[in-house]
Formats: sequence, C-alpha cells, structure tokens
Amino acid sequence: MSDAPARRLRQLGDVSVSQLRHVGEKRAAALESMGISNVFDLITIYPRRYIDRTRQVDLSDLSVGDEAAVFAEVTKVASRRTRQGKVMVEVTVSDDGESIKIVFFNQAWRERQLLVGVQALFFGKVGDYRGQRQMTNPVVDVIVGAAGDERDASKVGRVVAIYPASGKAGLTSWEMGGFIEESLRRAGPLFDPLSDVQREPLELVERTRAFWGIHLPEDLSEVAPARRRLAFDEFFRLQLILALRRRRLEESAAGIRHPMEVADLDVASGALVSREDSLVRRFLAEHRFSLTRAQRRVLEDVAGDMAGPLPMHRLLQGDVGSGKTLVAVTAMLGALDGKRQSVLMAPTEVLAEQHLVSLRRDLAGLVVADDAVLAGERGVSVQLLTGRVRAKERQAVLNGLASGSVDIVVGTHALLSDDLRFRSLGLIVIDEQHRFGVEQRSHLRDQGRERSDEGADPDLLVMTATPIPRTAAMVLFGDLDVSVLDELPAGRRPIDTTWAREDNEINACWQRVRDEVAAGRRAYVICPLVEGSDRVEATSAVEERTRLALHELRGLAVGLLHGQMKSGEKEDVMNQFRAGEIDVLVATVVIEVGVDVPEASVIVIEDAWRFGLAQLHQLRGRVGRSEFQSYCYLLGTPPNEDGEARLNALVASNDGFELADVDLAMRGEGTLLGARQQGRSDLRLAKLKEDEDLLVGAQQLAASMVEENDDSLAAMEDELRLFVDDDDATYLFKS
Ligand code: ADP
Ligand code: MG
Repeated sequence: MSDAPARRLRQLGDVSVSQLRHVGEKRAAALESMGISNVFDLITIYPRRYIDRTRQVDLSDLSVGDEAAVFAEVTKVASRRTRQGKVMVEVTVSDDGESIKIVFFNQAWRERQLLVGVQALFFGKVGDYRGQRQMTNPVVDVIVGAAGDERDASKVGRVVAIYPASGKAGLTSWEMGGFIEESLRRAGPLFDPLSDVQREPLELVERTRAFWGIHLPEDLSEVAPARRRLAFDEFFRLQLILALRRRRLEESAAGIRHPMEVADLDVASGALVSREDSLVRRFLAEHRFSLTRAQRRVLEDVAGDMAGPLPMHRLLQGDVGSGKTLVAVTAMLGALDGKRQSVLMAPTEVLAEQHLVSLRRDLAGLVVADDAVLAGERGVSVQLLTGRVRAKERQAVLNGLASGSVDIVVGTHALLSDDLRFRSLGLIVIDEQHRFGVEQRSHLRDQGRERSDEGADPDLLVMTATPIPRTAAMVLFGDLDVSVLDELPAGRRPIDTTWAREDNEINACWQRVRDEVAAGRRAYVICPLVEGSDRVEATSAVEERTRLALHELRGLAVGLLHGQMKSGEKEDVMNQFRAGEIDVLVATVVIEVGVDVPEASVIVIEDAWRFGLAQLHQLRGRVGRSEFQSYCYLLGTPPNEDGEARLNALVASNDGFELADVDLAMRGEGTLLGARQQGRSDLRLAKLKEDEDLLVGAQQLAASMVEENDDSLAAMEDELRLFVDDDDATYLFKS
C-alpha cells in the first residue's frame, strides 16, 4: 500500500468513467444512460446478487424437476415459429462438454441477447421435453458478452457479483464488475470519516473494506457486514444534511417568545376563571371537554417550543379522531395571548369550512382586548380564505390581517397567495399536511417573516393523521420535532369493521344503516374510486345515490357530495348532514380527510379494495368520533391478493400506526419515500424497517457531529457535496 493520503469519495466523484482503462466513448455513453458519469457513481451501483462458484450446479448434475441456477456458455441459438404462431427461441448452452436446451416463448429479442459465446446465469426449473432436459423461460443474467472480455476470468474470486445488467445500454454484469474492480483498485484505500470509536458501538466495518466486501467478496460472509456499513453511510449523510439544515435555520432565526405557560394547560373543563386569565386558560375552562392526557402532553411540547427563543418546527402525528384540532386551537390562542395572529391551512374547502364553523363555535365566548374598538374589547375574529371567497370579502379579510383586526385565518392553499400580509403572524398550523407538497409547507414558513410587519419567524405546527412509521418520519421529516397523540378521547369504542361478501352480510350492512338512522345517527356511503376521472366518479356517485334512495335506503334522506359540485353546494350539503336533515351522505373521497360529524356512526365503503390502506383507515375514521359504537362495512370483491390483504388488515386492526407498518411492509418503502427520492444514490441499500438501528445510530451521530463541529464534520461536508446541489451546499456549509 502506498503512503498517499486515503482518497475521499468526493474525489472519486471528480473522476470521469472515461478515465477507466476499458471505457471508451461508447461505453461511457452507455454508462451515462444509466446515470453513471463518475467513479463514485460506479462504485455505488450495488450487486443484485452473487453466485458462489463453489456451490454452482454442473449441467451434468441437473435432473428434471430441479430448480437451479446454471452458469453456462451459449453454443447455439435458433429461432422459429411454433404452429400457434408464437416465436420460439431455442438456445443450447454448455459447460465442460455437457449441454442442455433452453427455450423462450414470445421473447424474440433473446436471439439478439444470447449470442454464441455469451456466458450467462440461467435460473429456472428443469423440465422434460421428449426425454431431454430443458428449461423454459428461465430468468437470465448475462455475465460475459459474446465478444469475450478484457477482464480476466481467472482472477475473479469464488464469488461473482451480479449487477443489474442493462440490456438497453448493452453492458453486461461482467463488464460492470470489471469497471468497478478497476475503480476500487485504482482508488486504493478510501478515507473513512468515522473513527474506530465511532464505528465500534455500531458494529460497522471500515469503509474500504465495505466497498471491497460488497463488490469483490472472497466469501459470501463478507457481504452482510459490508452492506451494513454502506447502508449506515446512506442514512448518515441524509441525517447530517437534515442536522445541518436545522442548524442553519436556528442560526438565522428570529423566533417569537409566546407567553405560553404550561400551568395553563392543567385547567379542566368547568374550572373557574376570571377575565384577567390568559385566553388559553379561559378557553380550556369554558370548553365542552377537558384535554386528554395525550393532548395535554403534546401541548406541553408545543408550549415549550412556542415560549422558547427558536421558532417551533413540530410535526403532530395523531390517529384519526385523536383530537388534533383542539391542540391546534389551544396553540393558536397561545399566540393570541401575545396578540399574534395564526393561520390554519387545510387541504380541502370542505375541511377549511368545517374548521371555520367549529372555531367560531368554540371561541364564541372569548373576548380579547382591542384598543381600536370603542368598547376596548371584542370577540376573537376568525375568518375564511379559500378560492371561493368573493373578491370583496377577500379584501376585507386581507385588510383585517394587515391591520390586526383578524386574529385567525382559516383556509386552503389560497392562503399561499402573494398579497397576504399580517400585522403580526405568530403561528402557522397545517392540517393534514401529507396532502400538501413539501414545497407548500416550506413556502409558508419561509415567507412568514417577510409577510409579517413584526419581522419575526412564526412558529410552525404541522399535523397529520396519516401515521408514518417512526423510521419513515425520521427520513421524511427529520428536520421536524415529532409529537404523537397516542390516545383517543375517553369513551371511544373500537369501530366494528366487517368485510361483507355474502348477500346476507350485505343485507345486514344496509339494515345496520337503517337501524342507526332510526336511532338518530347518521351514515356515509363511499362510492368507488375512479382513477383519473372526477367526472365519471361523480356520475357514478349520482347513480348510486339514486339507486340507494330507491332500494336499500328507501325512505331515508339520502344526500350527495362529490368533487364536481360547486363549493356552495358542498357547504349546504355538509351543513344539512351536520344538522341531521340528511341521514345518509353518499360521497366520493372528498370526505376523506378531517371531516368531523360526531353523530355519524356507520360508513359503508363500496369497492373498498380500490383504496389504499392508509386511505381506508382515513375513511373509516369519519365514524367512531363519539361514545356511540360505530360500524364500518367494506364491500366488493378484490381482484387480487393485495386487495384482500388490505381489507383483512383493516378488519384486524383499528390502530393507524399498526396499519402504517403493514402498509409499509406491503408496498415497500419506495412508494413512501418516492416523493423525496432525489438524484444520486439516496437510499440504495438502506431499508427503513430492517435497518432501524442504523437509522437511529446515524441520527445520533449526525446530531453530535454537528453540535461538536469537529474535524470529522469538515470531512463529511466535503462528501455531502456529492449529494446536494451547489446552492444548497453554499447555504448549508457557509460558516
Ligand atoms: P382529528 O385528530 O382526526 O383531527 P378532531 O380534532 O376532529 O380529530 O377530533 C375528533 C373528535 O373528538 C371531535 O368531535 C372532537 O370534538 C372530539 N374531541 C377532541 N378532543 C376531545 C377530548 N379531549 N375529549 C372529548 N372529545 C374530544
Ligand atoms: Mg383533523
């Protein structure tokens, strides 16, 4: 080994693949088409699997019925049409004189892929065709191309790594392996930003060893520890970026110290209060019910943040029906106690209007001092800002926000409009935040200071009822503090969920709707989801409503709510449903999030398998919002096992966090992280669930490294430049 300083990953990022011995223009272009332009990109393409040559099956040992992977060379290829007109490619492969036939149906391109001389791994079941052993449509990994290869096969160890071969780019796994091997050899020892002391408790091998172990293991037992280290590095870089981002925010923050006191949270419903008490105190004393323990605990986190010098940046996760709104209202009153305004943003007009109605109802008795009015005091002013608010009203709300006569503004993304100004914006609450893009969240926050005459950063509370497994939250929202509402208000009973398949079960479902309505309660019927077409969906809802009103639910007041209705119509229908003038609301998913009508005790979901698990849980959460027993019926026959699994999971559990875990296991984390996957090797090896300990370790190490700001941080900053764009880097790393 030379004495040259160990090489940094960032340096490898500066070496173009065309500097490798066997990469000419054509191969460089092929690599480029796979998103690989430099040596760093190359060595972070990881093997899909490995063949252990010592355990390889010889063709002579194969018997009919075996499922086997055979490594062999193509000696003959021919293609013809069967009598049914299918294309059949017939390939003969051999090893050491022994050969078998492999046939492919309807894969004409195999003739071009499996040229004579190609060495490949064939994985499949050995069948019998007229007394001959034969494989049909096996899985194929081309390992060495027809033209032979510059790479010396004799030098490769017992274990061969198989890379995601790119048929399109025309590179074989063998070539990829060769480029990677050359890269690692020429790079020499790699700089390890982690010291022994940092690695040991996490059982991480050294970086150079990890890269060799994953690409060129001598033995398969080297792979797992190598993967562990490299997976850790993925999490670590991510957590470090989040920690640095957070540090920046804190350094540049102009936070507000809201006059919020934890003691005020202990006021129970019905307690005696006086006019001198804080709004929070007065509100809690006069409210219909007391805080749950979980609400009390979460509000303590919130009060701590709001009273502190840094802007709050908190995610509140709470299962459907856990009472997030009350937490938000209390926090907004905390801001108002310091004479500051709040924004409450919801993803739909239906939900924004519901918040307006309930806030006005719940805050009706409260007065605030205001020198601008003759009496010296007035009621709390809550106003609405959505796309449908007319220009004149809208202007009045804007004026009120600018002058300070409006205390709370509730709305949809219409709140993001550029002409909004506040006299003194203290708090932003985003409800059902998973329905907003990340950009919308940061837009509101970043603009808060400029929009407010006070020139301070408002606090931010984002709420979500779509529980995300803890690990996913750490990756997706690592820059937020997290509080969890893990308790439902007292007296709630688990929703009784039935998957109604047989006619008698379906009849029982509609009977239940009639019984509940007869007992003074209300029901939802959710119409099937129609992918990509609101109009067709609306039409089917209209028809379903008519059908139900004529048949199953004859004699009941059946209302309709769908996305194509005008806002005013929607509002009327919701009001009638709330008031009990409508017994049954036939609706599309417009009611998915947030809608709160406690008297509703049955929900029937048609073609339930069309919805995702999280969405089903959200829909079900429209009932079970009171002490009454509630029921959920799932209708429809899933066309596949996935659909069945979702319905069974929903029947089996009422717990959103548990379901979120099931969902993650079923869909894989790609979908969940999909929204944020960005560019270069984000999380290629790391798995949220299996590698939870690594993620936790990475977060802790990142936090302490940023806090201590030592030399290893400088080294990591250099590496992080590979993962963030230049603007971001300037922002994160400026000193
Ligand atoms: P979500 O967390 O789904 O937004 P909501 O805030 O809409 O839940 O609350 C669900 C229902 O529970 C509402 O009807 C609300 O009035 C009621 N609720 C909230 N907090 C409490 C409490 N502490 N005690 C009793 N009922 C409560
Ligand atoms: Mg809600």
